[in-house]
Amino acid sequence: MTTIEEAGVRPPAAEQERPGRVVFTAGEIRHRVAELAREVEAHYPAGEPLTVLGLLKGSFIFLSDLVREMRRPLQIEFLVASSYGAAKRSSGSLAIHYDPRTDLAGRHLLLIEDIIDSGTTLSELIPRLREQAPASIEVCALLHKRLVRLDEEPRFVGFSAPAEFLVGYGLDHAGEFRHLPYIASLS
Ligand code: 5GP
Ligand code: MG
Repeated sequence: MTTIEEAGVRPPAAEQERPGRVVFTAGEIRHRVAELAREVEAHYPAGEPLTVLGLLKGSFIFLSDLVREMRRPLQIEFLVASSYGAAKRSSGSLAIHYDPRTDLAGRHLLLIEDIIDSGTTLSELIPRLREQAPASIEVCALLHKRLVRLDEEPRFVGFSAPAEFLVGYGLDHAGEFRHLPYIASLS
């Protein structure tokens, strides 16, 4: 019998760091997401067109849970941008890899972000979306580290987050841990 070590097989990098302390449980998230849905619904006049725009990949679980709590007409779009890669620190520049091919003009746009850290992603993205003349742009972030004062604060925030690197409920480290139903800090 050869062990993994003897065979020279190393676990992938992401497996050397593991989710540690649970910061928000699945139950806490479920409760807060339902509250957020009520806040969002109350903000938008009934009858006006709303597009919920998820920033992939991190927001995919949050968006899925949020929209299923909402009882008003809406459309769902996604946008893929990256400022992080596999590193834990924001690089400070944003590349857009995919954006909605539908007409956003005249529609209320609600951006769904997993977590706000430096705020770079949103401050670079929002002016570009404005060019498409939506009726309004608001941000709904599940987590906000509140590390920096932003020019425009998100209108809807799930939780204030500790200044730690978090994983789970959509958030990854090097592609791992997105599927966890809770949010934990990486140890
Ligand atoms: P910002 O542009 O605000 O610095 O960072 C926003 C993006 O950075 C988030 O959408 C997320 O992809 C990534 N990010 C920031 N903080 C964390 C964190 O604690 N954990 C993970 N997994 N991603 C983070
Ligand atoms: Mg992200």
